[in-house]
Amino acid sequence: MRPSDAIRTYFDRAADLLDLSPSMRRLLLTAKREVQVRIPIERDGGELVTLVGYRVQHNDARGPMKGGLRYHPQVDLDEVRALASLMTWKTAVVDIPYGGAKGGVALDPATYSTRELERVTRRFVDEIHDLFGPDVDIPAPDMGTTADMMAWIMNHYGRYHGFAPACVTGKPVDYHGIPGREEATGRGVGSLTLKVLSRLGRSIPGTRVAIQGFGNVGTHAAKYLADAECRIVAVSDAGGGYHRASGIDVLEALRHARSHAGRLEGFAGGDRITNAELLALECDVLIPAALGGVLTAANAGAVRAPIIVEAANAPVEPEADAMFADRGIVVLPDILANAGGVTASWFEWVQNRQHYQWGVDRVRGELDRILGTAFEHVWQLSSSRQVPLRTAAYMLGVGRVARATALGGTA
Ligand code: GLU
Repeated sequence: MRPSDAIRTYFDRAADLLDLSPSMRRLLLTAKREVQVRIPIERDGGELVTLVGYRVQHNDARGPMKGGLRYHPQVDLDEVRALASLMTWKTAVVDIPYGGAKGGVALDPATYSTRELERVTRRFVDEIHDLFGPDVDIPAPDMGTTADMMAWIMNHYGRYHGFAPACVTGKPVDYHGIPGREEATGRGVGSLTLKVLSRLGRSIPGTRVAIQGFGNVGTHAAKYLADAECRIVAVSDAGGGYHRASGIDVLEALRHARSHAGRLEGFAGGDRITNAELLALECDVLIPAALGGVLTAANAGAVRAPIIVEAANAPVEPEADAMFADRGIVVLPDILANAGGVTASWFEWVQNRQHYQWGVDRVRGELDRILGTAFEHVWQLSSSRQVPLRTAAYMLGVGRVARATALGGTA
């Protein structure tokens, strides 16, 4: 299933329950602007390669459009379009003053040198610098992109438009970024997981958690949950996973990855398993924190965790989602579960605009407050309307965007 069809299914369900008119649905489903640009760069060996970059600006009814920039070989217009709409609902669920956007370049960053990636990033900015900016559309890191790349974006944007640190978020702390942004998505995943456990009356210490994906989000979620005395029974990355029923030493796994080019391969603190085995592991919480579309009709039946927390964007396809609902498996949806990242991006943008610094305690405190409020709203709506958490989150997000659209007027 195409990513945009999957998200459309979730949107339609909420739109039906909200009784949205066909004309409002069409407006909300149609992106404001979609651009595709050519990115020719010279590789270190002198060879010319031509890449394709995308930026989809989905909706700005509630504020400037916001969303990450992804470097991954699978990036295409349909995926970026789907992920841009997800950002619109996500920023609305946590009620921060943004719309939604997403961008991407189809490339495998592991096969490019740092200098090549810098050329790609600056060339992409050359092509789109007139289309984004602090009050228009603010990119941020996503899969395959890093804080350093955000620094290049800010620097290059400045060559055209002057000093404007708020044109991009997720920057390095030493280059107009903020402490607490990098950890924020994983921290949010962790803190919301604890809220789900508490609401379901489960005790937290000893909770068995399996995490697919050991990048920025997966590692910070693992650390947060391990600190809360959960047992991280499995972790994985693209090369496969490691399982230890008594609990993986998360710091040890992190140390291993850091000294092995970010990879878990060769980690001695667990038994080797495949990613498919990780998804089917006997555990209490399953956290897909890597690619989209990993839980499908084909493997949903094998899932044994009673709780799934979507740290990745769109990891569960609609057919799998329906199977989970039938089996009483609780799914905390991406547009709430991983909203910590964009929420902390908002804090960075606010501080950049004010030329002021909050400090990490305030960032964490405000993050926990905003995510906690959104969680309560979604949980209450889910109980009062007797719908899954995903449907409740979409109802909250889509409803807010529809109301802002109506208030602003469409003429
Ligand atoms: N890429 C992240 C997401 O999917 C963060 C976006 C942002 O900070 O703007 O939510």
